[in-house]
Amino acid sequence: MYDMVIIGSGAAGLSAALYAGRARLNVLVIEKMGVTGSQIIYTDKVDNYLGFPLLSGYELINKFREHVGDLAEFISGDVTSVSKKEDIFKIQLKENGGRDKREVKAKTVIVATGAIHRKLKVPGEEKFTGRGVSYCATCDGAFYKSKDVVVAGGGDTALSEALYLSNICNKVYLVHRRGQLRGSKAYQDKVFAADNIEFVGNAVIGEIIGDERVEGIEYHDKVSGYTKSISADGVFIAVGMQPETDFVKEVAELDEYGYIEAGEDCVTNVRGLFAAGDVRKKPLRQLACAVSDGAVCVKSAEDYISRNIL
Ligand code: NAP
Repeated sequence: MYDMVIIGSGAAGLSAALYAGRARLNVLVIEKMGVTGSQIIYTDKVDNYLGFPLLSGYELINKFREHVGDLAEFISGDVTSVSKKEDIFKIQLKENGGRDKREVKAKTVIVATGAIHRKLKVPGEEKFTGRGVSYCATCDGAFYKSKDVVVAGGGDTALSEALYLSNICNKVYLVHRRGQLRGSKAYQDKVFAADNIEFVGNAVIGEIIGDERVEGIEYHDKVSGYTKSISADGVFIAVGMQPETDFVKEVAELDEYGYIEAGEDCVTNVRGLFAAGDVRKKPLRQLACAVSDGAVCVKSAEDYISRNIL
């Protein structure tokens, strides 16, 4: 039996592995089908992580992984459920592309599976991801200085991304599938007051176009019925997030969007189960916060194991 099983090997999971390994805990990290790094590996250049300017997400996460080294054991697998009986967690997973099933036991579990950006699911989206298509203005906005960009979506994320980009870019087209925005009035007021944000409503994006890089979008104008286009150097997709919590929803308390309810100490409603990084309900989802959660949740887990508190 392991002292700790960490599910997910992004920034939060690897940070937890480092702290737990250094605390001499017996740790297993389960990474999804051999992919270390989850969302961050899709980021072109991470220039907001202190001390490592201009590394790609892939390079940075590899540095994290190297740093953990053999302080933890790593396996690939898709976790299907987590249950707890008499202070022992049982983690069920599928290995080898779903062909084999396995169960591991642990005293504590850290869920660090992150959240994935919902996709638009239109032609060009996958092809241009990292080459003009982005899901994070804070991460990639600086690369579009004085350029024209599209933000897709109508919720708070899309509005805050549009506002953020309006301070960097020449022009921001906020393209939404309905005539009315979903985001808060406070954000809407700021968006409509900004000189360089143009709201394009009733516009259903059909394709992200370009050759080597993004050159714009084509959309269906629901009012006129015509197909129209917008020229742009970047397309920021902000149509919601989807936390990866299906496997834990029977035991952990989730909020209405599926994020795990846990405070700054990463403690959940289940004793011995902790949530770290983007999967946790929190106001800011950034690399630095995920790394911080990884450290904090190990402290909470140590308190639980050694002193039986929390
Ligand atoms: P959201 O509120 O679910 O909004 C998603 C937006 O994307 C909606 O406008 C939706 O359109 C649109 N959309 C969804 N699927 C689409 C598709 N396939 N094609 C085109 N458009 C699509 O998500 P969110 O903006 O990420 O916000 C999530 C939660 O976090 C919300 O509670 C939000 O208030 C909160 N949040 C708060 C802040 C803050 O500063 N307080 C900042 C960001 C997020 P429809 O409107 O037509 O459904």
